[in-house]
Amino acid sequence: MRNLMIAGNWKMNKNYTEGVELAQGLADALAGKDLNGVEVVVCPPTVDLKGVSEVIDQTNAQFSLGAQNVYFEESGAFTGETAPSMLEAVNATYCIIGHSERRGYFGETDEDINKKAKALMTHGIVPISCCGEPLEVREAGKHVEFVVDQIKADTEGLEITDPSKYVIAYEPIWAIGTGKTATADDAQEVCGAIRETLAEIFGKETADGIRVLYGGSAKPGNIAELVAKPDVDGALVGGASLKAEDFSQMVIKAGE
Ligand code: PEP
Repeated sequence: MRNLMIAGNWKMNKNYTEGVELAQGLADALAGKDLNGVEVVVCPPTVDLKGVSEVIDQTNAQFSLGAQNVYFEESGAFTGETAPSMLEAVNATYCIIGHSERRGYFGETDEDINKKAKALMTHGIVPISCCGEPLEVREAGKHVEFVVDQIKADTEGLEITDPSKYVIAYEPIWAIGTGKTATADDAQEVCGAIRETLAEIFGKETADGIRVLYGGSAKPGNIAELVAKPDVDGALVGGASLKAEDFSQMVIKAGE
């Protein structure tokens, strides 16, 4: 029903040359492997997108391309921003939106994230829309309602005709880049609540087709346990996506 997805978020790592090398290494590591239906995505920095796109074409790689951010306007005087049509032109299939680092450091709001999702979908690019609670919310036991509220705001007015074309990543902020992974049960609790919320908004059939990933210190050693949970459909991976060996291991283990 839902293919697992392992998506790598390189964040602000790997210059153009290094990015092309990493993409090439990943293409080699996955070449000829049976991934058991696991879909693989890499999200390099914007200036690396074209080079990674060329590696994907030239090697017929077993992964597709995602961006890390987009702006919701079509074009114009928005210095430093990237339009959805520009991502389309380099064959980006996916785009991360609402990552907690963008919410935290760059002041992105749920309203921005909702506009970005709509702009991407107009261009046929699949959003990987991130949500997740800070530590103090988790410690107060309010994490489920916090994330449910984010989902409601981020999806407001979206029309999802094909549920494979919208992806959510639940990333508890306290687990990102800290080495503190949420337990598989913690991930399931929130991913399950996200799916129930999606069912209320879009209906059960659509909700059952939307992939909900977990993100936060996911690595080769814990991926199998995470994806064994019924509502965890893969992972958004930061640190462990920066080495072709680790990332390809995660993909293989997720599919076993
Ligand atoms: C991320 O930034 O999306 C992420 C999950 O990072 P890490 O895997 O390094 O915790």
